[in-house]
Amino acid sequence: MNLVWFRCDLRVDDHAALAAACAHTGPVAGVFVLSPAQWRAHDWGARKQSFVWHHVLALRERLAALGIPLSVLHVERWSDTPAALRAFAQANTVHCVHANAEYAVDERLRDRRTAKALREAGIGWELHHDLTLIPPGTLRTRSGAPFRVFGAFRRAWLERARSAPPRTHAAPAPRAPVTPPPLPDWEPPHCDLDRHWWPIGEDAAHARLAAFVDQHLDRYHEDRDVPALDGTSRLSPYLASGVLSVRRCFAAALVHNHGEWDSGSPGAQTWITELVWREFYTHLLADFPQIARHRALRPETEAVPWRAPGEDFTRWCEGLTGFPLVDAGMRQLRTTGWMHNRLRMLCAMFLGKHLLIDWRHGERFFCEQLVDCELAANNGGWQWSASTGTDAAPYFRVLSPVAQAGRFDPDGVFVRRYVPELAQVPAAALLRPGHPQLLAAGYPAPMVDLKAARERVLQAFRGLGASPPAEPPP
Ligand SMILES: Cc1cc2nc3c(=O)[nH]c(=O)nc-3n(C[C@H](O)[C@H](O)[C@H](O)COP(=O)(O)OP(=O)(O)OC[C@H]3O[C@@H](n4cnc5c(N)ncnc54)[C@H](O)[C@@H]3O)c2cc1C
Repeated sequence: MNLVWFRCDLRVDDHAALAAACAHTGPVAGVFVLSPAQWRAHDWGARKQSFVWHHVLALRERLAALGIPLSVLHVERWSDTPAALRAFAQANTVHCVHANAEYAVDERLRDRRTAKALREAGIGWELHHDLTLIPPGTLRTRSGAPFRVFGAFRRAWLERARSAPPRTHAAPAPRAPVTPPPLPDWEPPHCDLDRHWWPIGEDAAHARLAAFVDQHLDRYHEDRDVPALDGTSRLSPYLASGVLSVRRCFAAALVHNHGEWDSGSPGAQTWITELVWREFYTHLLADFPQIARHRALRPETEAVPWRAPGEDFTRWCEGLTGFPLVDAGMRQLRTTGWMHNRLRMLCAMFLGKHLLIDWRHGERFFCEQLVDCELAANNGGWQWSASTGTDAAPYFRVLSPVAQAGRFDPDGVFVRRYVPELAQVPAAALLRPGHPQLLAAGYPAPMVDLKAARERVLQAFRGLGASPPAEPPP
């Protein structure tokens, strides 16, 4: 029997390891390793745990209908995985275990140990590439080094992608349906995940992709920065848990854009570029393992005199900074488990720059709250915002919450949606933190003076002798 080990790839469609296992003759089975203690150690919050678990249940049904039983092993921590998988494989006369590669440090260690345990028992182990369109480790500069600058990475990436466009794998052909094996007695922690926002299942993810491409893609370059609009795909949780493959996303954008990667519809080009950011951060994670240890990619920035998280951090977490757009973003995160990209940048910069609080505290808080929490993109976004990454915002670029509100939410539509106490306050006052009408509504006074806070962070970075990175930010 061939066994497919599902991890962050909870789907039957376009799944490299599943397709490889099914290409062999003979029975195929699936396994998922439930490891709640490990998830918590990786800062997964209740929403992510719940989203993943409900997709495991959906996958189990889907696989059973295709004749593939999915077993769920409960081991709490990954250190117990090699022995548990070996015992399971031996009990089920498995010849070979197939899995899709993951690139962070703990994941690689787990896989190396599992491969060893299996091989010692005479069981095969095949790792397939699946997570990105271009495999991490295969794009190099002329001098053979990993890319550190997004613009250069994107050019090399596009050149490679043009010569090898997305090749997708069909879901396996159905065999006689089976009854799925029993589940362990486990429930995810209770959470308020809105099923209307985040429906469960591959069909829901495919429907969302199709609707987005059909109705929003051509306007994406204009709408994507306006948080009050439904201008982005909101596919991130499905990509982060692998309910949808990134190849399907690229393929759908290419079909819509008549096969063009970087010409044709400006919306399609911009969306493709965002997906390439996802590729970039995954490649960085593979090439710079310190990311998974939360180290700064620009080592000199480790010496920034970050302030300890105290009351200021709590106010930021609670969306009580006194800056309406920052607070609306933080409250969107807390109530929905997702935050618009423009606001992720703004809120992250506010913490790291205006409050000068170590970005790692914000990275952890985001991860605990986000339904789409994913190490490479979350760390990449945080290091970009804190100017500690390889191709980050220059340290002197500090997004002003007032200017950003004036550009991207001038009428306060988004702020009023998430900060109910400001629902009746006129737009002009919303753009002036500390305005008497805001205070009269019970909303807090601004927690920092923007000018002084900006000067403080510039001073902190100048003290390192930091120089701006080579390329302008996206
Ligand atoms: C501080 C910070 C933290 C972030 N944390 C995460 C995270 O934990 N998980 C996550 O998936 N994304 C993260 N992002 C990236 C981005 O904000 C989200 O991917 C995006 O908002 C998801 O919305 P969407 O699916 O509508 O994206 P769309 O705009 O429709 O983009 C399509 C897909 O491209 C990918 N993508 C888009 N922008 C980026 C980006 N800047 N970096 C990497 N991938 C991108 C995502 O997979 C996204 O679903 C973070 C960004 C910042 C600034």
